[in-house]
Amino acid sequence: MRFTVLTLFPDQITDHLGKSITGKAMQNGIISVEAKDIRDHAINSYGKVDDTLYGGGTGMLMQCDPVYDSWKEICSDGNKPYTVYVSPKGNVLNQDKVIDLSKKDHLCIICGHYEGIDSRVIDEICDEEISIGDYVLTGGELAACVIIDSVSRMIEGVLPNQEAYSNESHMGGVLEAPQYTKPENWHDRKVPDVLLSGDLKKIQDYNRIMSLIETMNKRPDMFDKLEITEDDWQKILALKKSL
Ligand code: SAM
Repeated sequence: MRFTVLTLFPDQITDHLGKSITGKAMQNGIISVEAKDIRDHAINSYGKVDDTLYGGGTGMLMQCDPVYDSWKEICSDGNKPYTVYVSPKGNVLNQDKVIDLSKKDHLCIICGHYEGIDSRVIDEICDEEISIGDYVLTGGELAACVIIDSVSRMIEGVLPNQEAYSNESHMGGVLEAPQYTKPENWHDRKVPDVLLSGDLKKIQDYNRIMSLIETMNKRPDMFDKLEITEDDWQKILALKKSL
């Protein structure tokens, strides 16, 4: 999958994504990440890309032309990428959206800075606006990295196998069951016996119910959306009692 990020700070993208799992996926040619400097399309030789706001207000706003010309350049092969503006006004990113985006061939992410970007160019070229949460960042670069990281994990070959993510939190609307590694006993906290039993069926049943309990305890809003069978309710209550 191809990612192109339009940004005033390309190093923030490549420095972060060039390492670890995403870095390896780039080396192996499974994903490509290109960070394009919007300032290359500045409106004058001093690198000007922003100006003051009409109607007043503090700060500077990124202008239409540098953003538009950067985007036009990546469309010059005749193919328009799916284009996202990362913005605190967008729909908040979730796992369903991540899976949806992972089906695109080419994703272009536009990062704002300062007060953001002139709305006209966003309306003209963007397919959607995505937020990574209800708070305001200084720039869109962290948000772009969050999107590329989460989307990349859904692409075949990036993680060692599909199992690596199919039981993870937010897949299927539940949180992952608690997980443990060696030692078996730490600060008098023992790993549950069932996980040491070697009985795969029992372990799977236990993890499935623990995943429901974890969701109920930590994300009641998610739990409320689940349809729990009478049988599972009995198992949840019995397991909760034994904890
Ligand atoms: N004036 C804008 C507003 O109130 O909606 C905020 C601009 S913010 C300081 C600068 C840039 O950071 C934005 O243009 C956007 O690209 C990015 N940004 C800030 N918060 C974000 C969030 N929660 N999710 C995604 N991008 C965000």
